[in-house]
Amino acid sequence: MKKRIAILGSTGSIGTQALDVISANPEVFTVSVLTAGNNADLLIEQAVKFQPSEVVICNATHFDKVKSALASFTIKVYQGEDALVSVVESDDVDIVLTAMVGYAGLLPTIHAIKAGKTIALANKETLVVAGELITALAREHKVSIYPVDSEHSAIFQCLAGEENNPIEKIILTASGGPFRGKDRAFLAEVTKAQALKHPNWSMGAKITIDSATLMNKGLEVIEAKWLFDLQASQIDVIVHPQSIVHSLVQFEDGSIKAQMGLPDMKLPIQYALDYPNRLKSDFPRFNFLNYPSLTFEKPDLETFRNLAIAYEVLEKGGNAACIVNAANEIAVDAFLHDRIGFLDISDVITESLAKIAFISNPSYSDYVETNEATRRFASDMIQVKV
Ligand code: NAD
Ligand code: MG
Repeated sequence: MKKRIAILGSTGSIGTQALDVISANPEVFTVSVLTAGNNADLLIEQAVKFQPSEVVICNATHFDKVKSALASFTIKVYQGEDALVSVVESDDVDIVLTAMVGYAGLLPTIHAIKAGKTIALANKETLVVAGELITALAREHKVSIYPVDSEHSAIFQCLAGEENNPIEKIILTASGGPFRGKDRAFLAEVTKAQALKHPNWSMGAKITIDSATLMNKGLEVIEAKWLFDLQASQIDVIVHPQSIVHSLVQFEDGSIKAQMGLPDMKLPIQYALDYPNRLKSDFPRFNFLNYPSLTFEKPDLETFRNLAIAYEVLEKGGNAACIVNAANEIAVDAFLHDRIGFLDISDVITESLAKIAFISNPSYSDYVETNEATRRFASDMIQVKV
């Protein structure tokens, strides 16, 4: 039986690489659902090639175009974000790959879990916003969540065969991004073009900015807590500029296991989609002799405050990480539109955290309200600044 995959965000960086993995393994996978935000042309091209049962174009202004382009096929076409929550429940779907960006991934993921679908999770924001709710739901519905994020995939791979061995701690590696080693005076002047040049990975715009501010590593610390059931004190971050060691697990006997390889998201994507199997691939192989020195350094939490903020909200719990995520999404978007500077991103987050009401035991509707209230607050704050 082929695994039937739904991809939320098929036109993005993760989505297109997932389709490459699926194309290379047609005897293992088939595509049931493709969804995109705005890129109607690529969605049409993908649908023609992969012949899914259903597609969703979230931006309704492109609906007629997609519908008419696919009219001669037996492909159902839907519009709007509301359609995402129903397509993930389809009987045609075994695995939902959450490869859309931001808070918008939360609701479809909840629906997919409730429908008993296996989750291949790229959308880390879902666990950042509502990790407690999502992991409880997954337990209740006996659903597995397999990480796609390379660091978490590395940890997951290191844990294979270690079911009865507790984790002492994990070490998440960070490339350090394009501004590693720079000071605040330098960061005050950086442009979006500089921030969008990641040294090792080619990714969507939002996560690339998050990597430059180290927010991405902060989000990953929170993601790791929920995926692997850890305390903040068990999660270390170390800067490793070559991005070869993808992350490490230290066990209670002191032994450390690492997962390594060239930086290529296709590997963690295919590990998540065909877990526990390792599919044969032709990805370029790592050669130690090409990397005679792999280096490690301490992250600079004073210059890159977002990572420190993430640890703070991890300790605080409740809706605090939801506030940070929403403020960060608004601030990154404003930075990408040249409306605020690079260092303003942390200020918007810090202010939002101080002003939005803390809820220690949030329900789903509390997350919805926190997200909306924070977005309004952060947008107003940016409006005043500009
Ligand atoms: P991207 O911007 O390249 O692609 C995002 C995809 O989601 C696109 O198909 C877009 O059309 C769709 N989308 C965006 N907003 C949407 C919305 N509101 N409703 C519906 N669809 C929407 O992003 P990406 O780099 O592929 O990242 C996707 C997710 O994977 C993010 O959560 C990111 O943090 C995570 N991730 C990405 C990488 C990477 O290498 N790109 C690595 C680890 C984790
Ligand atoms: Mg990562």
